[in-house]
Amino acid sequence: MNLILLGAQGSGKGTQSALLAQRFGLDPCASGDLLREAMAKGTPAGQQARPYYERGDLVPDELMVGMILERLRGLSDARGIILDGFPRNHAQADVLDARLAEMGQSIARAIYLEVPRALLLERLSGRYICRAHGHVYNIETNPPKTPGICDIDSSELYQRSDDTGEKIQHRLDIFFSETLQLTDYYARQGKLVTVDGTQSIADVNHAILAKLGAA
Ligand code: AMP
Repeated sequence: MNLILLGAQGSGKGTQSALLAQRFGLDPCASGDLLREAMAKGTPAGQQARPYYERGDLVPDELMVGMILERLRGLSDARGIILDGFPRNHAQADVLDARLAEMGQSIARAIYLEVPRALLLERLSGRYICRAHGHVYNIETNPPKTPGICDIDSSELYQRSDDTGEKIQHRLDIFFSETLQLTDYYARQGKLVTVDGTQSIADVNHAILAKLGAA
């Protein structure tokens, strides 16, 4: 089973991706993480992507698609993938469908985590992430016990360079004007599942499982 998590920045895709990966034995793949890894390693693709990433713009399709296709190469028949952050536009969705078809596979469901913009802004501007494992905190709604330190693994917490001020607004603009159209794309294929992403982590997870018929 291959799944896609659709949702704006701050809608909880990363958190739900980890839970679903564990539940169904899927391989989690976050396009933003692939990019951050490539930038940290200083690969040619990472270097080309950096200015787009820092502005909060979408990285050009050819760069992003290249990284994802490379990642799909390692996908075995036995273990499906759960994609978070990819695709973000029609062109990417078409390439993904075509590549999976070549592999004799397909997307089973695209899960849209619906969250209003005001709540996304609140979640993103207070978001801090742990260096070691990406555990997510919010200074207002879910602060760590010790400021700046992860409760779970004691690693340092940091704020993403694109989780600030105007960049957040810009990234959300792109989501609502461009990426959200993918809900129609997957609805037309009869694969869209929409879940209210304003609920607690456990409730969102339960709602997803119920809609997948696995609760
Ligand atoms: P994310 O961690 O998913 O919020 O992604 C962070 C940034 O990585 C985005 O603002 C884009 O610059 C870039 N990015 C991630 N996924 C994609 C994608 N599918 N297409 C283009 N750019 C992407």
